[in-house]
This record gives sequence, structure tokens and C-alpha cells, in this order.
Amino acid sequence: SRQERIRNFSIIAHIDHGKSTLADRILEATQALTEREMKAQTLDAMDLERERGITIKLNAVELNYHAPDGETYIFHLIDTPGHVDFSYEVSRSLAACEGALLVVDAAQGVEAQTLANVYLALENDLEIIPVINKIDLPNADPDRVKQEVEDDIGLDASDAVLASAKTGIGTDAIMQQIIDKIPAPKGDPEAPLRALIFDSLYDAYRGVVVYVRIIDGTLRVGDKIKMMATGKEFEVLEVGVSTPKIETRDALSVGDVGFLTASIKSVHETRVGDTVTGAERSAAEPLPGYRRMNPMVYCGLYPIDTARYNDLREALGRLELNDAALQYEPETSEALGFGFRCGFLGLLHMDIVQERLEREFNIDLIATAPSVIYKVVHTDGTTEEVGNPSEMPERKFIESIEEPYVRATIMTPNDYVGAVMELCQRKRGEFQTMEYLDANRTHVIYDLPLSEIMYDFFDSLKSSTKGYASMDYEMHGYKMSDLVKMDILLNAEKVDALSVIVHKEFAYDRGRAIVEKLKELIPRQQFEVPIQAAIGQKVIARSTIKALRKNVLAKCYGGDVSRKRKLLEKQKEGKKRMKAVGSVEVPQEAFMSVFKMS
Ligand code: GDP
Ligand code: MG
Repeated sequence: SRQERIRNFSIIAHIDHGKSTLADRILEATQALTEREMKAQTLDAMDLERERGITIKLNAVELNYHAPDGETYIFHLIDTPGHVDFSYEVSRSLAACEGALLVVDAAQGVEAQTLANVYLALENDLEIIPVINKIDLPNADPDRVKQEVEDDIGLDASDAVLASAKTGIGTDAIMQQIIDKIPAPKGDPEAPLRALIFDSLYDAYRGVVVYVRIIDGTLRVGDKIKMMATGKEFEVLEVGVSTPKIETRDALSVGDVGFLTASIKSVHETRVGDTVTGAERSAAEPLPGYRRMNPMVYCGLYPIDTARYNDLREALGRLELNDAALQYEPETSEALGFGFRCGFLGLLHMDIVQERLEREFNIDLIATAPSVIYKVVHTDGTTEEVGNPSEMPERKFIESIEEPYVRATIMTPNDYVGAVMELCQRKRGEFQTMEYLDANRTHVIYDLPLSEIMYDFFDSLKSSTKGYASMDYEMHGYKMSDLVKMDILLNAEKVDALSVIVHKEFAYDRGRAIVEKLKELIPRQQFEVPIQAAIGQKVIARSTIKALRKNVLAKCYGGDVSRKRKLLEKQKEGKKRMKAVGSVEVPQEAFMSVFKMS
């Protein structure tokens, strides 16, 4: 039957080990697209993904594979992101699969995200097929990497395919292993419908497009369906799959991975992780669904043009559909006006959301410095969670403050253990333990404040280990810390959006660094602007932006017209990212700088 010929799988890997490139080879082998349609990394559909060379969203495609045995198999391939910020997407894709190709770079070997993804795959009971990729590289060492797969992951690597996604070596063997090793889906096509919603997006013409994996039953056009978590009912207008061209079908059945539309207008009527069932013939139990992700990092997002507040709200609502990990609620800032406090899984996630809002919805934004969530115990015994530094209560009302910690596992060649420990120490890390993996590599485990690793920890780690170290981390509870709120005053006025929480020991140094940086970043105004950093009433650092002496254009009068135009354009460019705070024009970078100074 058709169901016996279905194989649902995902590709998992540490970032850059070649998932997307391998996906391209698989698309080729199934002739999903003509040569002209093949662009490199076809599944990275968003412009943003292509530009940055990373996968952000999961992607599901249906492919027909004419196997050498004469049968035609139906592959559903789900490409997933590799960065730790997007592991939420990975775990959702895996719940829709029976197997996973585990891609490991033949030169780099097993890395932190390789392991993290394997654990996710094992949690979902997936059959894992190891693929040692990039064997064409001169420094490839497939035998060593095979051994690592056995020793570090505990998988049998004796059949691991040696591949080069770049040249196409090994693709046929991979296809054969998919058929032989990954089980066909097991659901019952006659049972009441149960379809797992693993993603959704908003389409201006079709409303909400819901991506589902059919576990039991059949989903037909015209069916009345019910969302089990919300109880909302709809009539199915369209079902289909991506091949990766959009193809509509009459029905989707057990094992299929595709989409449905049903005039769903509101974001809140469908929920990623919910189960779709029949409105009349309903399933008794919903599918297990997903763990809800808690944001780790918050920042304020404000439209530069205050008139666009409602557009921003709408845009966030639509983006939320396509990004289940995004959270937001309205907030106001004295300095920036009306905006939203948004929660993210990490800094890359935050960056991507801001960029998608600007590109896909055309809204210019000011983002305030990201902050973690602090737990504050008041002197009266009550507690509060603070994700916005400007809302930190006055010191006299605070009994204690706790901040979130992560447990970081850093894998490094032995030669760099010293450098890694020095870096962790500098970031207020607490050494836990060290494990020697083999003659060359060590795991160094530290507990670190999340706020200290948010910004450039990863880059520092890479640069102090010549790029060899890799890191994985998980949240590891809260610990009490000696933290204080530092306010920044421009022209004697406190700017709430520039407040930061800092460790007391570093407050003076950071205060000084921040005022110096702001002096550099904030352009001269018509008047002198004093900048101060203060803790409570006490000013701990100060600096002054001198008044502007000449009109920029004055110089050009009578001069070269094109040069004048260039200057004006340049000013306009600069303006785009400026926000008037009181009487001072402040550029976007200034808001981020308070955070980068750690
Ligand atoms: P992903 O982050 O896992 O999706 O990795 P990509 O597929 O984007 O690949 C990362 C980089 O490695 C790209 O520059 C690819 O061209 C390159 N790459 C992927 N597979 C191979 C391979 O088999 N050999 C070589 N030499 N390069 C590869
Ligand atoms: Mg990719």
C-alpha cells in the first residue's frame, strides 16, 4: 500500500556540517526540481536564510523516489535549523518523523549540537542513520569521525555512509538506507483523524496555513475539523503538499506531511503542537504535542515612527504564527513611547525576529538592549520577575536579586583548556568539572550567568580557541547575585530604555565604558549634551557630547551639487535609525551599546 512506501525523515547536524547541501542532493536524486529550478540550498526559502547561510525555519517537502528495486517511495523530508536558538523548531520537526539522517562533518567530527540533536532524535524514538559528510575535504578523517560517532554518541557506525554532499558521493547509498532502515508510518487510516500541527504561517490570500503530519485517519477537502486544544471548528478548503512547489490534493492520509487551509483568520485559533481531529468523528485523546518553550531573553521593540504601533502589533501577531517560540506584550517607555516587550529563545532568535519584522512587514524598529529575567525578592517578602531593567524597583525595596544561570559544556582541544577557563572566569563563571574525552579533547563544564554569555561569549570562545571549541548549554536555575540597576541620563534626564542591570563589582568600569561609547555614538546636537551613569542618586561616570559647531551643509554652499546631495542622503540614512529622546536624537546602536559593554 501507499503507506508502506512512505518514509518520513529529518536531517540533523551541527551547524555548517552540510544539512542543507545534502537536502539539495536528495531533491536532485528525486528530480523534484528541474536543474533550472535548483538553486543552492533550495530549502532555505527565506531570503534571510540565504543571505546568512543558515536555516531558521523547518521546511517539509514531499518527494517521489524511484528506487533501483523498481518501487516508487514517498519521502517526506524535513530540513531543520542547527543553531541552539532554534532547537524548538528541530524538536517539532522530529515529532513528525520516523527517522533522521545524522550529518557529521568528516573534518570537524562530533560537536555540541550534534549531540544535542541526537538526544532530541532519541527522545522521539527515531531511527538514526549516520552520514559522514565532506569526505572530499583534504583534512577529512572519516575513520576517526566514525569512531567518535560510536564512542561519543553510542551509535553503531559500521554502516555509516561516507558522503560528500558537495560532489554527490554517497547520495545513492543514503537513499537506500532511508528505505531499508526507516520504518514506514504505523497509523490507522480508518481511525478518527489525528493530525499534529507542527507549524503555521499567515498568507494574505488564504488565511492561516496549517502544517500537519497525519498520524491517524484521513483529511479531505470539505471535511469538518476541530482543533482539540481550542475546540474551534472549521471546514477544510484546501489540502496539499510542497514538492517543493505547492501542490493541492484531494486528501492527506496516514504518514503524510502537508498543509491545510480552512478560512482560519485568527492566530489564536490554531496552535502549534495542537491536534486536528474530525468535528463529528473526534479522536478520544490528543497527540502529546510539544513542550512549551520559555523565553530566555527579553527586549523592547518600538516602531521608529510612532504612528506604526498598530502595524507592529499586527505584524507580531502574524509572525507569532510562524514562530511559536516568540512571545510579546505591550509596554510603554517614557523615552520610546508605545511598543512591545518581546521574549526570545536567544540572541540570534531576537535578531532574526527583528529583521523579519522589518523586512516582511516593512516596519523600522528600535530594539532596546536585551535583558534576562531577574527574580527580585522585596523587603516585604513578596517576589517579582523583572525582564525590563527600567522596572527594577529602587534598592531600598529590594531584599535580594537572583539571576538565571546556564550550565555550559564546552568541548575544546586540550591545548585551549586554559584559554577557555580564563574566559569563563572573566564572565563570572563557576567551574564545575572537566572530562577528558580522548587524547585530544576535553569537556569543560561551567555554570555561567546567562546575561554574561548572551552577547559575545560565543565569539570570544571561538577566537580564543582558533575556532576549535564548541559549546552547548542548558538553563540551570537561578542564583543570588550582587546586582544593581544603572541608569543613564542624557541632558540630565533619565532614559528608561538605556537602564541596565550590572554586577556591583563591574558597575564602575561598565558605567565608564558606556558613557564613553554613547559619546561616540550619539551625534553632536545644537547644544551640549551631558551623559551620566548613575546608581540610584549617585553618579558614577560622566562625559559630554560637545555642541555642533557648523551646519553640515554650510560647507557645501556654492560647492559641488552632487557632493551636497550625497551628504544629505547620508544624513537621511543616519536619520532612519534615530529616535528623538527628549531633545536628543539617539541612534539605534546606542541602545544596544549599553549591553555590548559587558
Ligand atoms: P548546514 O548549516 O548544516 O545546513 O550546512 P550547509 O549545507 O549550509 O553547508 C555549510 C557549508 O559547507 C557550505 O559552504 C557548503 O557548501 C559546505 N559543504 C556542505 N557539504 C559539503 C561537502 O560534502 N564537501 C565540502 N567540501 N563542503 C560542503
Ligand atoms: Mg542549513
